[in-house]
Amino acid sequence: MVLASGAFALLIGAVFVLLVFAIREQRDSAKRAIRAQEAISAGNKLEKLAIDLETGVRGYVASGARPVFLQPYTEARQAYPAQGRALASLVRDNPIASDTVGGIRGSIDDYVNLYSIPMISLARDRIDVARSVIVNGTGPQRIDAIRSQFQQLFNSERALANKRTSQASSRANVAIWIGIGGLVFGLSAVLVLAIYLSRAVVKPVREVAAGAERVAHGDLSARAPDQRSDELGDLGRAFNTMATSLEHSRDEVAARTAELERSNAELDQFAAVTSHDLKEPLQTVTVFAGLLDRDYRDRLDDSGKTFLDSILAGTDRMRTLIRDLLEYSRVGHGELQPELVPADELLDRARDNLAAAIAEKGACLTSDPLPTVNGDPKQLFQVFQNLLSNALKFSDDDAPQVHVGASLFPGEWRFSVRDNGIGIDPRHAERIFQPFARLGAAKEGTGIGLAICQKIVEHHGGRIWVEGRQGAGSVFHFTIPDPGATEEHQPNTAPAGVGA
Ligand code: ADP
Repeated sequence: MVLASGAFALLIGAVFVLLVFAIREQRDSAKRAIRAQEAISAGNKLEKLAIDLETGVRGYVASGARPVFLQPYTEARQAYPAQGRALASLVRDNPIASDTVGGIRGSIDDYVNLYSIPMISLARDRIDVARSVIVNGTGPQRIDAIRSQFQQLFNSERALANKRTSQASSRANVAIWIGIGGLVFGLSAVLVLAIYLSRAVVKPVREVAAGAERVAHGDLSARAPDQRSDELGDLGRAFNTMATSLEHSRDEVAARTAELERSNAELDQFAAVTSHDLKEPLQTVTVFAGLLDRDYRDRLDDSGKTFLDSILAGTDRMRTLIRDLLEYSRVGHGELQPELVPADELLDRARDNLAAAIAEKGACLTSDPLPTVNGDPKQLFQVFQNLLSNALKFSDDDAPQVHVGASLFPGEWRFSVRDNGIGIDPRHAERIFQPFARLGAAKEGTGIGLAICQKIVEHHGGRIWVEGRQGAGSVFHFTIPDPGATEEHQPNTAPAGVGA
């Protein structure tokens, strides 16, 4: 491409030089033609002066040597040497014309010195003799000879002027044709260059851009042409290397995700199967422990009764654990079937379910206006219920204050459940979301509630986390992607409290 641009610039330069040369030639020819015309005009003036010399002498003699009649002669005699020099300078580049002009000047000098001066002086002394000499003398012949020399000069200068004029015009034509040729050539070269650029540069760049767009839209199989050995080839190769590496990374991520999903599914399956299988022996133990309690309690001593109570409590706990484990392995599976759910309704249902606990604790439950979200109503209800239940469960004994809030962030709704309970040491803020994780103070529960909440929220594309301090209450936050934040999904503007 650099080579093509260089050749193009060189050709344009050559055309330009030719054009300048042709224009200079034309200008020189025109100048020479003008000088020939000027030489003719100067010759005419000199010829007139020569004639003035002759008519002046004649007039002087004819008037009987009256000085006033000599004036044309005197003026012409003063002027002709300078006019002769001017003429000589105009024809100096033409040797033949220079010779002719030299001859003319010599003849005029001869006429003046050898004829007119003696004639004037004769007229002053002997007018009658002068009169007869002027009739028969050589003056007119001399002047005729001078005029014929002029004629010769004029003819040659005219021929020269014509020749130079036609030379100038033909060079002007050459300049015009070179100009037109250069213009046509320049335009065609620009056109050829534009076509070349469009094929050789714009097209491959467009192909890379189209490839980049396909990659941006997720089609990592897009490739750019990379056969060229220039910078565009480098660009294409770099793009292809990038796309290939992206494709590998995506395949690796997909393989790892599939592997993770498979092992998760296996784990869930394992948990479901084991919990299910455990139910039956547990049921047997529960039934026989119940029979033992009903039919043989009276016959047992105190230690036997304590052992039996432990067996009954253990089976109860085992049943709860198995139920929670099954619940945990069930949630967050399969395609989500979302629908628009007003979060206010979910909160109301959770509050109804927990009415006994709220009343028992004398809790005060308030909330912001809550938005409508897109999600599985059953699962989202469970999140509200678990978080509210924990807020009541882990409260101080004084009337618990629980507040549910919601704020819109870019692309998501952020809900919060704030309590003034026992709080959480920030060091355990992540651990409590693991299945069966319970902190020291917790006496009730299996430690599965928050793990279930996390599974549900993440299944909806959100996040869940806790902020809190030991003894200073805690705030559980979770996000749900915004269904579009249209008017109808916005919360009411007036804050509403939900009292218990
Ligand atoms: P469970 O299902 O047994 O209630 P969770 O998974 O819900 O268990 O909670 C795990 C642990 O997190 C609880 O045992 C408790 O120690 C702590 N926790 C949960 N919610 C709160 C809260 N609102 N305030 C203080 N601690 C909490």
